[in-house]
Amino acid sequence: MNRKVNDWIESHKEELLEDIKALCAIPSVRGAATEGRPYGEGPYRSLNLALSLAEKYGFSIRNYDNRVGTADLDPALPRTLDMLAHTDVVPAGEGWTVTEPFRVIEKDGRLYGRGTSDDKGPLLCAMYAMRAIRETGTSLSKGVRLIMGADEECGSSDIAYYYGIEPEAPMTFSPDGEFPLINIEKGLFRGNFSRSFPEDTGKPRLLSLEAGIAVNAVPQKAVLRFEGLDLHTPEVRDILRSLEEECQVSFSISDDQEITVTGQSAHASTPETGRNAGLAAVMLACRLPLHPSEQTKALSKIPTLFPYGVTDGSGIGIRMEDEESHDLTCTLDLFHVDPVSMSFTFDSRTPICASRDNCERVAGKNIEDAGFIWDSPGMIPPHVVPPDSDFVRTLLKSYEDVTGLKGECLAIGGGTYVHNLKNGVAFGAVMPGIDTRMHGADEFFDIDNIITATKVFAEAIQNLCV
Ligand SMILES: [Zn+2]
Repeated sequence: MNRKVNDWIESHKEELLEDIKALCAIPSVRGAATEGRPYGEGPYRSLNLALSLAEKYGFSIRNYDNRVGTADLDPALPRTLDMLAHTDVVPAGEGWTVTEPFRVIEKDGRLYGRGTSDDKGPLLCAMYAMRAIRETGTSLSKGVRLIMGADEECGSSDIAYYYGIEPEAPMTFSPDGEFPLINIEKGLFRGNFSRSFPEDTGKPRLLSLEAGIAVNAVPQKAVLRFEGLDLHTPEVRDILRSLEEECQVSFSISDDQEITVTGQSAHASTPETGRNAGLAAVMLACRLPLHPSEQTKALSKIPTLFPYGVTDGSGIGIRMEDEESHDLTCTLDLFHVDPVSMSFTFDSRTPICASRDNCERVAGKNIEDAGFIWDSPGMIPPHVVPPDSDFVRTLLKSYEDVTGLKGECLAIGGGTYVHNLKNGVAFGAVMPGIDTRMHGADEFFDIDNIITATKVFAEAIQNLCV
């Protein structure tokens, strides 16, 4: 390890924190496009502040039409390593208690504010790693470039644009995740199933059941509407109470014929952390004393295909796992039921061992056997960078040497910024086991973590670009 570089980083801590505060003060949430500002005013200002800092610190910069900016440590050297970070943020949201979302403060050894850990803080750690190398006169023989996107949070159109112009570097890491290193993103398998039936007006009956706002999120809320059902009988009360207990959700009777179910939302890549309001609503409809019909019969199949609280796909026969990428996850996220039809959509994150044969075909057959019409856009394969490549091994060694912690590869279900890059991994910047509340209220980044991440990036650059 290079003492001079690490000492430089320690002695420029205050300056780094000031830059993070300034960059996070810009509410760079995507807005309406105007002339020269493809993602709106905030992302424009944020990207341009990051670029002007890079220029001030002596790097060669380029602005790709206010979608992406780059900073090269030495453009004369052959392009070798790219670091990919972003200057936009998700909206502030509700519930901030420590500070205003766009007024970063230092408290208890942390910086609090939107963007501190996702991803403006990590972006500046990467920039300061380059700066430390430059200002200590440490020589490299290969080039390193910081790529700064302005639209990561709303679909990553920024890097699609950039890679339409520039080739992928031989190696890319993105400090937009966690340490040690994410080399596998599971595949994606989604399916829709539906059926229709003749209307049966026998009462009491279910008029509608709606749940889910996005295919990639466990529904937090579901609404059921009935006709001719007395919701205030002791029998119905008992059913509600026992299901509330069983599913850990809450029911509220909003008017005479309507029940709202409230569960807990979660990202579809970690469905086990949610409580699926849609599935609880289906269970409720199955237990209430409704007039038997084709509709209630079809609905009764759902808890077998997607048992409440089970997120491993076993109900549709696709439970599987492998050592490298771990277990398959599966969650039913979109629900629609009316008097003549019903349809549902699930989201599954698949390990490397999943194939059309053992996954897509099996799920389709089980769903068809239950009486539904099956439709799937097909499977998207996982993103995998070999764990034993020189690139990955060098990153892990850099992390181990700086932190003294064990470096190992992680597999996750969510898509990251490097999903479409052949040799791209997520590397930092958040230390393992810490939830910095990215996308939530009171997002933070530990100051120790900021300094450690900067040193790890500097070490990685030196090891990869000698
Ligand atoms: Zn991010």
